[in-house]
Amino acid sequence: MSDVPKTHPRYLSLSLRDTIVTGVEQGITSVHGLIAHGRGEAFDYLIGEATQPFAIEAIHAAAAMLRLAEHPVISVNGNVAALVPEGLIELGKLLNAPLEVNIFHTETGREQRIQEYLLKHGALDVLMPTTDAQLSYIDSNRKFVHPEGIFKADVVFVPLEDGDRCEALRKMDKAVVTVDLNPMSRTAKQASITIVDNVVRALPLLCEEIQSFSDPTAQETLKKYNNEAVLQEALRHISRSGNGNQR
Ligand code: ATP
Ligand code: MG
Repeated sequence: MSDVPKTHPRYLSLSLRDTIVTGVEQGITSVHGLIAHGRGEAFDYLIGEATQPFAIEAIHAAAAMLRLAEHPVISVNGNVAALVPEGLIELGKLLNAPLEVNIFHTETGREQRIQEYLLKHGALDVLMPTTDAQLSYIDSNRKFVHPEGIFKADVVFVPLEDGDRCEALRKMDKAVVTVDLNPMSRTAKQASITIVDNVVRALPLLCEEIQSFSDPTAQETLKKYNNEAVLQEALRHISRSGNGNQR
């Protein structure tokens, strides 16, 4: 990483910034992804840059939902490909679920570069958007999906998602599990399960939870889960941190 010493109090945050910048330089992450990352950083600061109990609760429900899914699919954009390629691949293997590239800004060749990057990191198969299958309720490029992937999915894992697409997936009766540091984003509010945490912390925990998942009452866990209450708890936590209780 650049010349930030490991002892710097913001070392981890700054090293993630470097990872995203490298993603842009490699043509994997869009330059717009830097702005999304910055927004995430601000919320991460507010939640204390640590996985909080409301995220743990959502991770447990997400593990149940993904375990019970018949056809789960993992949607990959340029930010998550740069930040957590191994985590996405591991999740795919644990669930026997395909990864599918789906991005908003389609600079020439970026989708292919993301696909190659994931394959290089050990992904077995990475689905690409096609014109054969399209999502309804959405006009952007993100409506193009793979017929055997997102189009067919009953549960879609879409970390760092844009609100429009989350809404379209929900209207198509698909369950959505997202990771989003902003509990107020449209995605956070519309998803079935929102893990309010940094994807670099949440994904390894989700994989661990799925691996050791042994909840005989998974259906019950899901029935009892209340995403709105989890988001409210995240907001309460943020407002408490504003009162100086956190750092
Ligand atoms: P929405 O469209 O859902 O209202 P938005 O327009 O504010 O959200 P987008 O750029 O569409 O933001 O989506 C990116 C989201 O990802 C933001 O809510 C941002 O806080 C979040 N985010 C960015 N980096 C991370 C990260 N590393 N981990 C988790 N969430 C992140
Ligand atoms: Mg958005």
